[in-house]
Amino acid sequence: MSEDLFLKIIDREIPADIVHEDDDVIAFRDINPQAPLHVLIVPKYHIRTINDIEQKDEILVGKLFSVAKEIAREAGYAEDGYRVVMNCNGSAGQTVFHIHLHLLAGREFSWPPG
Ligand code: C5P
Repeated sequence: MSEDLFLKIIDREIPADIVHEDDDVIAFRDINPQAPLHVLIVPKYHIRTINDIEQKDEILVGKLFSVAKEIAREAGYAEDGYRVVMNCNGSAGQTVFHIHLHLLAGREFSWPPG
């Protein structure tokens, strides 16, 4: 059993509502949604935080945005708008230490974020 929660989802050791999967990336609905659409886009390759992203990861990290864009488009939010967020370490609120892009849509978002 992996200690990485998202690797457990990738390995089907724990369930998730998966909305996209390919060789590089998995995306699933957040278990505690903060908007009508709240999906996490996760690289299958383990990267602990944004601080750990290396040059070799740049295409993979870019793909997280491409997948987020496509999920938002398919859900009908491309024109209305959506937000993508990646938290890094404790003060930003990161709780799962395997990088993931939050895709949120379906309500108005304030700025600056809380
Ligand atoms: O950015 P942060 O690390 O806080 O985000 C982790 C997210 O993972 C949370 O929004 C939490 O609800 C979600 N989560 C999940 N499924 C789990 C455990 C956590 O969707 N089994």
